[in-house]
Amino acid sequence: MIAKKYSASQYVKALRTLYKRLPKNHPKFFKIKNEFYQNQAGEIGEEAVMKVLEKLKLPYKFYVFHNISLYSDTLFQMDIIIITPYYALIFEVKNINGEIIFTDQQLLRKLETGESHTFENPVLQLEEYEYQLIQLFKSIGISLPIYSAVVFAFTSSYIKVAPANKALIFRRGIKPFIRSINVGLPILTDSQLDSLKNYLLKNNKDFQPFPLINYFGIEPNSLLKGVECVCGYIGMKKVIRSWYCPACKTYNKNAHESTLKDYFFVFKNTITNQECQQFLLLNNKHEASKILRNPLLISTGQSRNRKYSLINGKEQPSFSKSNQT
Ligand SMILES: [Zn+2]
Repeated sequence: MIAKKYSASQYVKALRTLYKRLPKNHPKFFKIKNEFYQNQAGEIGEEAVMKVLEKLKLPYKFYVFHNISLYSDTLFQMDIIIITPYYALIFEVKNINGEIIFTDQQLLRKLETGESHTFENPVLQLEEYEYQLIQLFKSIGISLPIYSAVVFAFTSSYIKVAPANKALIFRRGIKPFIRSINVGLPILTDSQLDSLKNYLLKNNKDFQPFPLINYFGIEPNSLLKGVECVCGYIGMKKVIRSWYCPACKTYNKNAHESTLKDYFFVFKNTITNQECQQFLLLNNKHEASKILRNPLLISTGQSRNRKYSLINGKEQPSFSKSNQT
């Protein structure tokens, strides 16, 4: 069964915002663009693989986790892990189209256009995760065998040269692959497996590189300001009790909420009245005060020094409406 279900990461959402707000001539534009598209594609692949695992049935108890980060010698982040009384299984999911060639250290991709790109070799990633997981299991007195496989989520990948010493499967092959794992005597009882599940959930440390401009070393002033419309236009006009988009000519009274959320994840983890006026392109401080009177924000300091932040900066904030993706 699913112990940690698929969820879209705040990192990809924040990357999208950063990419959208970075001018095309910015020196880091292509780096951010690539980072966004690669991570977005990765997520689509992980979601597709999780859909297969949601329907998985095995003759023994098991738990599936999506996107779990654990601390062993270092922090390591696994796309998918399955734990059973007999073994643990790690999947590194790839959604890279084109012709794929595995070399010792890299993964090369060639597109029909002739363009080629290099990626980290997922086999090396898996070897590292296996090592880290063994250390972690040792530290809690568990000696479960660990298997791993590279999973290509879509058949738009054509594997020209497969890795020499690691299982590589497509989504269709997931169930047969898992069923083919030989199991002897169980190493964990069902209640020990439950404890391990709880341990992993409790010790999961979500990747929190926010605000992103600090993480990527980008100057705050280089980003586009203004409220983003659902049509993608940035710079909606504040009108009485609403926002107007000059691009798609629609009104939306909650349009500022998703932009305010973007601000915290991309820009800075606190906001003052003046920063709010500047970022949302407001007409005066009264408009900002109204917007900052939001139940999801807490304030510290008095009058001119007052700063607002998300009530729980580590949680993914879910503003009431305009939950755009
Ligand atoms: Zn619009």
